[in-house]
Amino acid sequence: MPLRCVGRCLTCGELSDDAASANAAQMWCLKHAERTHHGSYELSAFKSFSATMADSTASGSRPPASVRRIRRRARSGRRAGLGRAVVGGR
Ligand SMILES: [Zn+2]
Repeated sequence: MPLRCVGRCLTCGELSDDAASANAAQMWCLKHAERTHHGSYELSAFKSFSATMADSTASGSRPPASVRRIRRRARSGRRAGLGRAVVGGR
């Protein structure tokens, strides 16, 4: 999904339709300024995506295997760090 851009008037809060480019969103701001004389705008970019559980049969109490692997790696990393500190303290 590509980035989408949206302009927002900071005076009245009106939003542009989301556009494929920043230029298109800024054009909406210019037209809004011409019509309303509102002078402050915010331009935002966002990206939509879908999120689903990779393993839909996993129960809620047990995280997916990929998460368990990451947690195990984090724990072993901390242990390795302590080992280096002991060696350095000689
Ligand atoms: Zn406005």
